[in-house]
Amino acid sequence: MSERIADPHRTEEDAAEATLRPQTLDDFTGQKSLRENLSIFIQAARARGEALDHVLLHGPPGLGKTTLAQIVAREMGVGFRATSGPVLQRAGDLAAILTNLQPRDVLFVDEIHRLQPALEETLYPAMEDFQLDLIIGEGPAARTVRIDLPPFTLVGATTRAGLLATPLRDRFGIPLRLQFYTPQELLLIVRRGAQKLGFSLSEEGAEEIANRSRGTPRIAGRLLRRVRDFSLVSGHAADRAMADGALLRLEVDSKGLDQMDRRYLRRIAEHHHGGPVGVETLAAALAEGRDTLEEVVEPFLIQEGYVLRTPRGRVLGDLGWKHLGMSPPPGSQA
Ligand code: ADP
Repeated sequence: MSERIADPHRTEEDAAEATLRPQTLDDFTGQKSLRENLSIFIQAARARGEALDHVLLHGPPGLGKTTLAQIVAREMGVGFRATSGPVLQRAGDLAAILTNLQPRDVLFVDEIHRLQPALEETLYPAMEDFQLDLIIGEGPAARTVRIDLPPFTLVGATTRAGLLATPLRDRFGIPLRLQFYTPQELLLIVRRGAQKLGFSLSEEGAEEIANRSRGTPRIAGRLLRRVRDFSLVSGHAADRAMADGALLRLEVDSKGLDQMDRRYLRRIAEHHHGGPVGVETLAAALAEGRDTLEEVVEPFLIQEGYVLRTPRGRVLGDLGWKHLGMSPPPGSQA
């Protein structure tokens, strides 16, 4: 289990997140065009008195997929049920959930790319025609019973849209991609979070946290809570120096990169002369899952230009060299 402070995945400690969760689309910072589109689709569905079309949210962990799914239900004025791909094991589990939905309810399926293939097939007619084909009995006596379902909205979330089977992906009328947040957006989120926690944080302290959150609201919330702890225990005001000291103790550097990020960059620089190097090789050397590298570590490093993804493997970018305080060897790819 990872102990990274900058791990964007939800952990036990993040139960505290509920306090910071925006409740409405207006309260949701950033993702402007996604928010505008979603708002129009919600208004149109409400005007027609219909369920909203199925929504697929994809993007790295911690960017607000669960939050948006809850907001969709609230803005539609309907019920919200949540489950996840790995939790659903048998067709019966899924059938129990689907048959208990009220008309127009939102069913949120997190990590939908990890749904069992057999369950995916159960979902197709459910999503398309609001019908469920259940097989009752076994062997020659088995028969199929068709059950009508209430019209509902499936909101699927995935960190890897590419891993979704095409027939499943095609059944989502509203595919939406979440982007990393800008430092300005994160600043708003941090300020608002401090307010909600009743914590007095200077403007510079808030900027420091926003700039070092890897573009991710979940990390911003976590850093904010840790800085609050350090401030409380030390008795010092939460200003820039306080935030800076707290983040350094958490080993989050001036750009928001943590130990894992730095190990990853250093590996490419020191062992592969800046690359190209395959992701499998890196995963083995760093004793991390390939999935973790591709879903959690790399997206931000690639977007910011620390690393480039090329057909022959990962290559350290200019920014990566600079961050490590090294220069690319002559003839390297960067
Ligand atoms: P995901 O499902 O994509 O992993 P979540 O929806 O659980 O992410 O969000 C993680 C945390 O970040 C939540 O505590 C939520 O309050 C916060 N958060 C996410 N998006 C926003 C946003 N746009 N504005 C403010 N807080 C946000």
